Amino acid sequence: MKTAMRLLSSTVLLAMTLSGCSRDVDTQVNAGSQPVNAERIIAAAPGEWVSHGRDYAEQRFSPLKQINDDTVSELGLAWYADLPTRRGIESTPLMADGVLYVTASWGHVLAFDARNGALLWHFDPKVPKDYGVNGCCDGVNRGVALWGNAVYVASYDGRLSALDRHTGELQWQVDTRINQQDPYTVTGAPRIVDGRVIIGNGGAELGVRGYVSAFDAKTGELDWRFYTVPGNPAKGFEDDTQKMIAKTWHGKWWENGKGGGTAWDSFAYDPELNLLYIGVGNGSSWNRKARSDGKGDNLFLSSIVAVKADTGEYVWHYQTTPGDSWDYTATQHMILAELEIDGVERKVIMQAPKNGFFYVLDRRSGELLSAEKYMPVNWASHVDMETGRPVEAAGLRDGSFPGMVRPAPSGAHNWQPMSFSPQTGLVYIPAMSSGAIYSDDFSAKDRKGTWNTNYAVEAMLEVPDQVTVEQRKAMGEMLLQSVLIARDPVSNTDAWRIEGGYFSASGLLSTAGNLLFQGDLDGQFRARAADTGKLLWQKDVQGGLMAAPMSYELDGEQYIAIAQGWGGISGLPYGAVSGPRNMINISRVLVFKLGANTELPRIPVVEQALPKPALAAASDEEIAKGRELFNLYCAVCHGGNAISAGLISDLRYRINDLDDAWLAIVRDGALTSMGMPARGEFIDNDEAIAIKHYVVEQARLGHERGEKRLIRGAAQ
Ligand code: CA
Repeated sequence: MKTAMRLLSSTVLLAMTLSGCSRDVDTQVNAGSQPVNAERIIAAAPGEWVSHGRDYAEQRFSPLKQINDDTVSELGLAWYADLPTRRGIESTPLMADGVLYVTASWGHVLAFDARNGALLWHFDPKVPKDYGVNGCCDGVNRGVALWGNAVYVASYDGRLSALDRHTGELQWQVDTRINQQDPYTVTGAPRIVDGRVIIGNGGAELGVRGYVSAFDAKTGELDWRFYTVPGNPAKGFEDDTQKMIAKTWHGKWWENGKGGGTAWDSFAYDPELNLLYIGVGNGSSWNRKARSDGKGDNLFLSSIVAVKADTGEYVWHYQTTPGDSWDYTATQHMILAELEIDGVERKVIMQAPKNGFFYVLDRRSGELLSAEKYMPVNWASHVDMETGRPVEAAGLRDGSFPGMVRPAPSGAHNWQPMSFSPQTGLVYIPAMSSGAIYSDDFSAKDRKGTWNTNYAVEAMLEVPDQVTVEQRKAMGEMLLQSVLIARDPVSNTDAWRIEGGYFSASGLLSTAGNLLFQGDLDGQFRARAADTGKLLWQKDVQGGLMAAPMSYELDGEQYIAIAQGWGGISGLPYGAVSGPRNMINISRVLVFKLGANTELPRIPVVEQALPKPALAAASDEEIAKGRELFNLYCAVCHGGNAISAGLISDLRYRINDLDDAWLAIVRDGALTSMGMPARGEFIDNDEAIAIKHYVVEQARLGHERGEKRLIRGAAQ
């Protein structure tokens, strides 16, 4: 492979020269393609989708209407293509000049002929699978950016790559991490503003300092960097903004948790105002008592921050959850629109962050225009419109708050993109109901290699052993229920609301054909009337959908595309709460048009009963020790009570086979190639064996409950 890779810094990874881009088909699709520039993104031709949210306003509204509320019954599968990974898929495809660009897990990029699905090239960033342990929520990726004649992708391990649009060849690559020790991960799609590639990162569950970087799109050189939380004052502040926000922090935040505030998903850009909007994440550690001596607003956690797009200079901020202590990120999708509010035409920015309030701000100044609950919320009664601050519930900070706090860390709405239809004037929110018990627990504080929340894992993820399979399923349906909301952002009322389905269903697309598209985790893809919510079309696609659909047009035909692949946080820790959900990961891109009738291959699904463990039970004391360690090191991936939600191996089903290899897997990394990291640095032999005894005990209990699961083809 010929690369034009430039060595930009010591952090450029030479290993990448070995990485693969394979070019399978050479077609004429690239003939006549035009470089992507600001005008093309701003003007957003109806048939194209050249930026993550279609344009800089991130409205995710397609002006196409060939597929509409009259014709949608004729919608069928035009083509599909398998993706090369088997983890969660959260990617929004882009389409320019007849080529569809889709990312798979870890930051793979695939370019397809958008008319027929022929593979043009495939770029594999070769992320070590055990790097997955550094992230909270699966090795996902939300998509590429286009600029000039290049495609930009950030891989899970923090590398940003520029690829030739026509061949997939690597042009340059930089490591976006400020150091290699901290567990930074990148899952978001880059945005490109005036020739600068904007990218943030994640890691606030494990302990990092958040920032956003802007790299020169041509060379990969760093142009500016904006830190979302302050560093150690003794080392000097990077700028006056850091000095300002450090006054809102206490204790030694730069040591324990490093602050967090990672900008892992959303951006929006107003070219007229030269403002880039950054959605900032939760605190690290989650618990403010451990993070900031229990005091302070801790800017810019859980905030929308506006910076000058060309310099990264701070302009304004609005903090949705001052002193966040509940993983209430404000990284959720932000939409720019023009709305008439109280007779005044306003340029607004809108967000439905995890905390359950829907915010409308004037995007020139950050002035709060409205903040109303869009889902059940009990952590705050309301937002005081004088101060712009939430009025918190009594007992919330001192542990005396009764019952569950709503929403949970998974949020009233997470990363799944919303959509705004200028035609209906409605914002569509893929929300979910949730609640959690936040119980202080500082026992993990000095242990490395675990989540740094300083809350008890068992209170959030475990369920008493005697709870039946049916009861678990009912709990999952109540606690983790998908809610689709069509909201009028001016009157702050719901035009309609549809409840049902597990966890959050997929991201959204609205169209000028009066349609709203959404998939769900059970593998149904649906079109509803955007104005009424009436179900108009439905297709069983066999495997769960999380990512947002998009639309494009070629040769006078409109297409609807969605990247498929269940996983993410819904595939990881909630197995005990929800019961086995029998969800299947099929990783594909699916493309629909009118009158098409391509069939999907049938994927065999078989039922498997939880086998009786062959190993003898250990003492109660040993099991209790194993439980504590399992909750510290294993539960966030393998599930509370060792009940997997399905994406990662359910250890109880495999414990009889894993017995002999247990220490080699847990301590020495015998299965790193499958994503199981070596934990010998943190867990000694006795501890690893105690964890095994706990899994055996959970296997015995599950067997006695008569648990079963569905698996596709061979067991995973
Ligand atoms: Ca988080």
